[in-house]
Amino acid sequence: MQQAQPHTGSYYAATVNKVTDYAPLRGAQNADVCVIGAGFTGISTALHLAERGYKVHVVEANKVGWGASGRNGGQIIGGISGEEKVARSLGQDGERIMWQMGWAGHDIIRERVETYGIDCDLKWGYLDVAIRQRHLREQHEQLEALEKHGFPHEYKILSREETVSLIGTEAYIGSLMNMGNGHVHTLNLCIGQARAAVSRGATIFEQSPVLRIEHGARPRVITGQGSVTADFVVIAGNAYHFIERKLRGNMFAVNSFIIATEPLSEEQVSFVNPQDLAVCDPNFVLEYFRMSADKRLLFGGRCNYSGSDPGVIKRTMIPKMLRVYPQLAKTRIDYAWGGRVGVPINRVPQLGRISSNVFYSQGYSGHGVNVTHLAGQIMADTVAGILERFDMFANIKPVVIPGAHSFGKQLTALGVLYYQIKDRFG
Ligand SMILES: Cc1cc2nc3c(=O)[nH]c(=O)nc-3n(C[C@H](O)[C@H](O)[C@H](O)COP(=O)(O)OP(=O)(O)OC[C@H]3O[C@@H](n4cnc5c(N)ncnc54)[C@H](O)[C@@H]3O)c2cc1C
Repeated sequence: MQQAQPHTGSYYAATVNKVTDYAPLRGAQNADVCVIGAGFTGISTALHLAERGYKVHVVEANKVGWGASGRNGGQIIGGISGEEKVARSLGQDGERIMWQMGWAGHDIIRERVETYGIDCDLKWGYLDVAIRQRHLREQHEQLEALEKHGFPHEYKILSREETVSLIGTEAYIGSLMNMGNGHVHTLNLCIGQARAAVSRGATIFEQSPVLRIEHGARPRVITGQGSVTADFVVIAGNAYHFIERKLRGNMFAVNSFIIATEPLSEEQVSFVNPQDLAVCDPNFVLEYFRMSADKRLLFGGRCNYSGSDPGVIKRTMIPKMLRVYPQLAKTRIDYAWGGRVGVPINRVPQLGRISSNVFYSQGYSGHGVNVTHLAGQIMADTVAGILERFDMFANIKPVVIPGAHSFGKQLTALGVLYYQIKDRFG
């Protein structure tokens, strides 16, 4: 695991409202709940618990939002990856239950931002773009699902021409606009919620990598200089977590990278994205983009590179961006960064238990901004003994990849290649 590293180099780190500066964990501490990891899953869990009156300690190896939560594309996307598998296991009402859960994270984000006055450039509006005919068919199915479930926000199918006039590129053959999805300055959202959790009594320890958990009637979370003994532990380390043997090999850590241009001129904005929509293509090895509040184009995609060299990221991502927007060939790239997305083989988020009082939540694939907020609520319920939604996920057995821990990079590269072929010919 990467330890005690600053989060630098990203557009988000450069434009964060105020960096956090919580002290490292020292000495023997006590809490009702100890949460490991201060990304969206951990912070959302801590905030839900603190609001319910629990004494919560969050222990983070680096800084709040250092992982995927402070680096991602900021796209708030409906649905839960692998939801059809969970729905099938729930029988007749499964589809309806999973549909409701697939949008619950949006409401939590909306409500948190309002309640705690979090300044994070939250905007609503999203475009699913189609590359192949089968994507258009899938969009019509999505439209039917939105109609069937009485989706309360505006949505509509757009033709190729309408799509071109909306986002100024000929790369796509149509799109589905959905004003219920949106985008956000992800690091400011994460830090804003961390501050909210602290305002409600939670304690956050930064620069404190957890070395191990001593299991027992009251598990003990141990770092280099301290420990937290708690009634419950929630592990929220996602693709950066390696301390618990049981969680190794449950999912791939797929790298995703983003570049941010210099601020675009008004004229450029008027063809690239005048309505300020988040845009995402339908591939597994996908590309996604949106405007930042200061009118930069943030363009992201997945690939096999596993390092963090901004030069390599630029060289990898610029050709992808120029295939969509050749007009930006002379535009300067100011930021380039990446992070790890936790992708379970069966795509179902992994909420489960290691023992009766140590739980975990991880593996949301590309829907983590939304689903982590739901997961935090479910983990808080679980601690309170309300297991209904937790069990829906915990009862789905993860597919374990033998050797994934030792051969993770090679296996991930193979997996990405498999999906690239599927995207193209599937
Ligand atoms: C580049 C990129 C783009 C993405 N784009 C999108 C998007 O547009 N929309 C979307 O919905 N999703 C997106 N995702 C996925 C989404 O960001 C994640 O699913 C989500 O942020 C996961 O949150 P998390 O809290 O579970 O994990 P993380 O945010 O990764 O947090 C885990 C934290 O645990 C800490 N930790 C790990 N081990 C230990 C330990 N032993 N001790 C203490 N702390 C530990 C880490 O330091 C880290 O801070 C993207 C991801 C990436 C990387």
